[in-house]
Amino acid sequence: LLRPDGTVASTIFAEMTNLAARTGAINLGQGFPDVDGPHAIKAAAIRAIEHGHNQYPPGTGTPELRRAVADHQRRRYGLDVDPDTEVLVTTGATEALAATILALAGPGDEVVTLEPFYDSHAACIALAGATHVTVPLHPTPDGFRLDPAQVRAAVGPRTRLVLVNTPHNPTGTVLTCAELQVVADAARAVDAIVVTDEVYEHLVYDDAVHVPVASLPGMAERTITISSAGKTFSFTGWKVGWLHGPAHLVEAVRTVKQFLTYTSGSPFQPAIAQALADDEAPRALAASLATRRDLLCEGLVSAGFEVVVPRGTYFVVADGAPLGFDDGVELCRRLPGLAGVVAVPVSAFCRAPGTDEASGPTAALALASRVRFTFVKREDVLRDAVRRLGALR
Ligand code: PMP
Ligand code: GLN
Repeated sequence: LLRPDGTVASTIFAEMTNLAARTGAINLGQGFPDVDGPHAIKAAAIRAIEHGHNQYPPGTGTPELRRAVADHQRRRYGLDVDPDTEVLVTTGATEALAATILALAGPGDEVVTLEPFYDSHAACIALAGATHVTVPLHPTPDGFRLDPAQVRAAVGPRTRLVLVNTPHNPTGTVLTCAELQVVADAARAVDAIVVTDEVYEHLVYDDAVHVPVASLPGMAERTITISSAGKTFSFTGWKVGWLHGPAHLVEAVRTVKQFLTYTSGSPFQPAIAQALADDEAPRALAASLATRRDLLCEGLVSAGFEVVVPRGTYFVVADGAPLGFDDGVELCRRLPGLAGVVAVPVSAFCRAPGTDEASGPTAALALASRVRFTFVKREDVLRDAVRRLGALR
């Protein structure tokens, strides 16, 4: 987490958001919506504050939110989850990831992730003192895809956790049932635990279907499933997340969570419990995001980028190479000046070339010219961004 000169690195998202603020560029870097979630959910949080939900809630989360998570998993995926022993409410998916990795992995253990990976995955593996091993996702016309042989090569006797993220940030890949089965088989063969980050579970497009790893045969007993209200309901600042899994693993994660935050935001929990009971808001958000995805992807292509069309999340990865930009970091630094838009280099989601060769070859070199844009912005903002990007030609 330290730079070679001893300074502490800030996250790439904070850095790019600062760049947008400094330059007045349109921020398509950090993924957060510019329109809040439903009014009825806000009203529920306000009511909860007025009705006295202002002191520490139970450490595992309020019973109504734990029940709502269990009901949601049954209704949407047919999963059988005990709200009393198998669910833990957390301060966003970020805390769920941190507490899970710190509880279950340590020095000498290997944690396998996809590459590119969400930045906090790598940071938490480092905080736990575990070794980070990666499996590259390869750009294809059909999305960024896994090579089953590389999954099998990465998962071995020292693997403690296999951390999957689907739908995947930054590539927008929705892993198929077959791909997830390869991961599940590899984990089971070495008795590893699977941790899945499913915060974009409802944001899938076209004919893509989100498959929770825990729904694969025999996997519920060895999988920690993580999700969050931030992306599903457009309340990223509320930081309401949760995880579920077998009781003994959830208990281990709870022991860490109690010393990270003890409990999580009291009045937001009943509001999100109410939100989780209704599938309409996420469905409407996904439908509107599909349109916004098309708008941005078409705009990026007319500006000269090559794009891999995402089937999930609210991100698209674009290749700057056809425009003569071989280095995505350089492109993101210059983009505010050239076009008044901010993006994030995909290399920020990869291990630096040359680090820890034992962890396998990094995907950073293959993806060096790629940058990530978010499309969770109003259509007029995206239209403006697309018009500005036209200046790159
Ligand atoms: N995982 C992924 C893949 C993410 O993109 C994000 C950002 N929303 C998180 C976890 C963190 O989620 P939260 O804001 O609920 O902590
Ligand atoms: N998850 C969001 C993204 O990928 C931002 C989260 C953050 O700022 N840490 O852009």
